[in-house]
Amino acid sequence: MGFIADFLHQKTPSSKKAMPGYYRRALLVCESLLAAYYLLIFFLFPLMHTGWQWVPAVLAAIFVLLLTQTRKINPMISFLAVAALVLGWCAWGIHTVGWSYGVQHFLVILFLLLFFNIYIPPLVKLISCVLILGYRMALFAYASSNTPVIGLGHSSGIVFQTINSAWFFLMLALVCILFSSSIQNTERQLRLDNETLNKEAATDPLTGLPNRRKMINFIEDYLKKNPETAFSVAIADIDFFKKVNDTYGHACGDETLVALTNLFKTESNGRYMACRWGGEEFCFFLPEKNLDEAGMIMNDLLFAVQKMPLEFEGTSFHITITIGVEETDYHSSLEELLKSADEKLYMGKNAGRNRVVV
Ligand code: GH3
Ligand code: MG
Ligand code: MG
Repeated sequence: MGFIADFLHQKTPSSKKAMPGYYRRALLVCESLLAAYYLLIFFLFPLMHTGWQWVPAVLAAIFVLLLTQTRKINPMISFLAVAALVLGWCAWGIHTVGWSYGVQHFLVILFLLLFFNIYIPPLVKLISCVLILGYRMALFAYASSNTPVIGLGHSSGIVFQTINSAWFFLMLALVCILFSSSIQNTERQLRLDNETLNKEAATDPLTGLPNRRKMINFIEDYLKKNPETAFSVAIADIDFFKKVNDTYGHACGDETLVALTNLFKTESNGRYMACRWGGEEFCFFLPEKNLDEAGMIMNDLLFAVQKMPLEFEGTSFHITITIGVEETDYHSSLEELLKSADEKLYMGKNAGRNRVVV
C-alpha cells in the first residue's frame, strides 16, 4: 500500500502556473462532447414526448459558451463549471427519468478530471472521490424511493440508455487516451533526455572518446563478466605536447588531439578501446591480450603516431608518444594495474620518450 502513501505525499504546484496542455485539451474534449450530447438530447426529447427540452438546450448553450472560454479562463474554473453542470445533470436526469438510463455514468468522467488535475492536493482528491461516491449513493437512494417525473417508453428508454452509454464510453476513451499518451510522451522524452545526458557525461567533448569514468566502468563491467580472461591496460602521453601548443597555438594542439583520436580508431581494428584519460594522456584497454601481445600492438601504434602527418598553416610537423603497458596478474585491482602502467609510462619518459615500456 506504499503507493497510497506516495500519492498522499505528492506535492501540489502553485495553481498560478499554467495548467499542462493535455489537461486543457481533456477539458475541451469533454465540453465539446457534452455540448454535442445535450444538442442531441434537445432534438430527441420531443421525439420521446418527454417535454423538458429546454433543459438540454440550456446545457448545450452553456457548454458551447464554456468551450469558447476554456482557452482564456483558468482551467480550474472550467473544471469546476464542468463538475457543477455534470453533478446537476445527474441529479436532474435521475429525478426526471430515473436510475435505469445510465445518466449517473457521467460522474466517472468527473472522477478522471479530478484525479489528473495536478493542482488539486491529494487529500482533496480522495475526499472528493468519497463525496462523489456519496453523491452517487444518495441519487440511487432517491431513485429507489421516488417515481421518476417522466416514464420513458420501452424504445425511448433503449435510445436514451444507448446514447448515454455511447457518450460516456466515448468520453472515457478520449480522456484516457489524452492523459495516458501525455504521460507516456513525458516518460519517453525523459528517458531520451536521460540517455543523452548519460552519454554526454561519459564522453570527452573534444575528441568524442569515452572519458576516464566511462572507461573504468566499462573495464569493471567486462571483468565482472569475464573474471578469468587475460587483459592488458596501457597509458600513453604525448611527448612535449606543451611545445605544440606554444609553437602552433592551443587550437592546433586541440586539432592534434583530434587527429590522434582518429588514428586510434583506424589503428585499433577492434583490438583495444581507447579513452581520453585527461589532458594529453590516453588510456587503452586490451581485452584477451597478454603483455607481449599488448606491447606489440602498442608498438604498432607508436610507429603509426610517429608517421602521422600533421600540419599547421603550411608547416608540417610530427609528434611522438610514450606508452606504459601492464598485464593483469589476476590478483591486483584495476587501480593498481593502471598505476603500474602509469609508472612504466614515466619510466619511458625518463628513458628518453617515444617508446613503449612493458
Ligand atoms: P612530456 O613529454 O613530459 O609529457 O611533456 P609535455 O609538454 O607533454 O607535458 P606537460 O605536462 O608539461 O604539458 C602537457 C600539456 O598538454 C600542457 C597542456 O596545456 C596541454 N594540454 C592538455 N590538455 C589539452 C587540450 O585539451 N588541448 C590543448 N591544446 N592542450 C592541452
Ligand atoms: Mg606529455
Ligand atoms: Mg601529461
